[in-house]
Amino acid sequence: MKLPVKAGNDANVAALGEAWKGGGQGYPNMLLVTLGTGVGGGIIVEGKILNGAKGSGGEIGHLHLVDDEPETCGCGNHGCFEMYASATGAVRIAKRVLAKTDEDSVLRGKDFECRDIFDAAKAGDKVAKEIADQYGYYLGKGIAAVASVVNPEIIVLGGGVFKGRRYAL
Ligand SMILES: [Zn+2]
Repeated sequence: MKLPVKAGNDANVAALGEAWKGGGQGYPNMLLVTLGTGVGGGIIVEGKILNGAKGSGGEIGHLHLVDDEPETCGCGNHGCFEMYASATGAVRIAKRVLAKTDEDSVLRGKDFECRDIFDAAKAGDKVAKEIADQYGYYLGKGIAAVASVVNPEIIVLGGGVFKGRRYAL
């Protein structure tokens, strides 16, 4: 059997899937934000994916959010959205919060991952709650910046950070 095959950027293809059979079904103007090791985006405007000139349309992860970020993003810039709102970003925020306080936390002295932070926050760990608050701040700031340009009807969140879990950030 011969079938036509089309390929695209992972977040853009994910957005098309969400628009077709997922959370974006019935909304021709949709923003998908994927939160994993990085932050990806897929923008659907009037039913069509925004590919841009070379297929990098909707790449929201490198949107500039913070001016005084000392670390360098994988793209070579500083202060990109995904430096804070990805799973690795959550761990970055956590290390900074832990370094600034003497408060006890289940995360202190451990080699933790993103999910451990949110599990600890859900369990009531005060430091983990502060980390989750900061994570939510950056996530909201980035999404608001994109939404102000795109004017979506719906914003769909996906990716490993949310895998199988629901968090009140
Ligand atoms: Zn970047």
